[in-house]
Amino acid sequence: MAPVFLELEAPNGVKYTQPTGLFINNEFVESSSGQTLTSIDPATEEVIATVQAADANDVDKAVKAAKAALKDASWKLLPASDRGQLMARLADLMEENKEILATIDAWDNGKTYAEALETDLVEAVGVIRYYAGWADKTYGQTINTTPQKFAYTIRQPIGVVAQIIPWNYPLSMATWKLGPALACGNTVVLKSAEQTPLSILVFAELIKKAGFPAGVVNIVNGLGRDTGAALVQHPLVDKIAFTGSTATAANIMGTAAKTLKNITLETGGKSPLLVFEDADLDQAVKWSHLGIMSNQGQICTATSRILVQDGVYDKFLAQFIDTVKTVSKVGNQWDKEAYQGPQVSKVQYDRVLEYVEISKKEGATLATGGHPVKVGDKGKGFFIAPTVFTDVTPKMRIFREEIFGPVVAIVRFNTEEEAIALANDTTYGLGAAAFTTDLERAHRVAAEIEAGMVWINSSQDCDPRVPFGGVKQSGIGRELGEAGLEGYSQIKAVHVNMGNKL
Ligand code: NAD
Repeated sequence: MAPVFLELEAPNGVKYTQPTGLFINNEFVESSSGQTLTSIDPATEEVIATVQAADANDVDKAVKAAKAALKDASWKLLPASDRGQLMARLADLMEENKEILATIDAWDNGKTYAEALETDLVEAVGVIRYYAGWADKTYGQTINTTPQKFAYTIRQPIGVVAQIIPWNYPLSMATWKLGPALACGNTVVLKSAEQTPLSILVFAELIKKAGFPAGVVNIVNGLGRDTGAALVQHPLVDKIAFTGSTATAANIMGTAAKTLKNITLETGGKSPLLVFEDADLDQAVKWSHLGIMSNQGQICTATSRILVQDGVYDKFLAQFIDTVKTVSKVGNQWDKEAYQGPQVSKVQYDRVLEYVEISKKEGATLATGGHPVKVGDKGKGFFIAPTVFTDVTPKMRIFREEIFGPVVAIVRFNTEEEAIALANDTTYGLGAAAFTTDLERAHRVAAEIEAGMVWINSSQDCDPRVPFGGVKQSGIGRELGEAGLEGYSQIKAVHVNMGNKL
């Protein structure tokens, strides 16, 4: 029997019990095939833990557990306010365990501990708490028709939801998906990303401790092509909610089409950030830096194309490069001075460095960075210097393709029309930012840019109360805010005959 719990001590001295099983019916269990996945520390390349990986049999057990829980009175008949209370209790438990959860996310993702604790955990707890409040506030309408008839609608859960998440914000991504799903009374099988399975298993323990009935939330670890594919194909899954790359989303959409499964997709981006001549330049520089270099550039909404108006181009560029060199200190997750940790995996590290070579070959000018960074004496880890390219044209791949690393393309523009045309010259449409002190221009540009979210004089704002999602090939549907509930409930119409006799 493989152990399903490990006693671990993280490099920052935090000791905790790491579950390593699949979480099905509120228990951690072994995989039926004996398959496993290994999570590594991207700063040292050392193994942190090996977890059980689900095959189609295990996925089937998890989906059937979710289906049974959906029908069980302990969940189906639980008053919505009590559902909200369970979620509020879960948020409290997350808060009580935030150091452990942040430690794990930093350890296997590579993000700095400070970022994990002060940004990710705050957001993750906030999202569960926000949706706890919605649990008893989603209901239908009464609709008057004629004196002999009226109709009403009720909102019901969609059913068994398969949720598939990426590695860049492991816990936050899990809460964005679980929050609205649970508030609306669904049951869930969530597949974590193969690179970052650990924090979600500790979170699973908190779900059980909070008092959620068995089977309401099930968590399966595994590769996309095995576990993910089995989940997407399962006939008892009613909805798929996915965050990840556009290519995988297209694949999932194709599979879901066969049984008309409901879908929500959050995918990639190549988000523009526009700096106009009338901008507060210091602010534009600071936000532009955060918009691409935070979280190692592994942000779906990263403002990876910075478009700068002629009149301030030279000044902006000099200040931006200076900020990159002085603020973006590269170090391991536990280094209090570090702004940037390692990329999540060797695959991502190689991919980012390959894009650096492609950009050079295509004629872009490397203004700074573009090389690996050695941290510590062993020379291990997937560290890359923050990288800035100038002289980028719309034909180049660095302008068009998502790199998902600390690499930015800077492009010059002359007029507002040209800026908008450049901003919209992409198959993506996730985020966009505009820096200007001209109120009219700010709102004009916000309306014209093809994106699901626009930040005026900032970048990367994210709030549980505000909808998040993309247009074009950046996704379908919205997460967060009241809009995030739409994807997790369905309306049933009931017609009532009040005496209309035939
Ligand atoms: P990915 O698409 O390879 O993987 C994402 C998830 O999908 C993982 O859990 C993976 O195991 C699973 N998966 C892979 N193939 C699958 C298949 N055939 N069937 C079912 N599941 C499958 O993406 P990634 O490289 O891990 O993540 C980075 C991408 O995610 C970037 O493109 C980024 O923009 C995107 N992302 C988007 C958002 C957003 O909200 N829009 C947020 C974070 C990341």
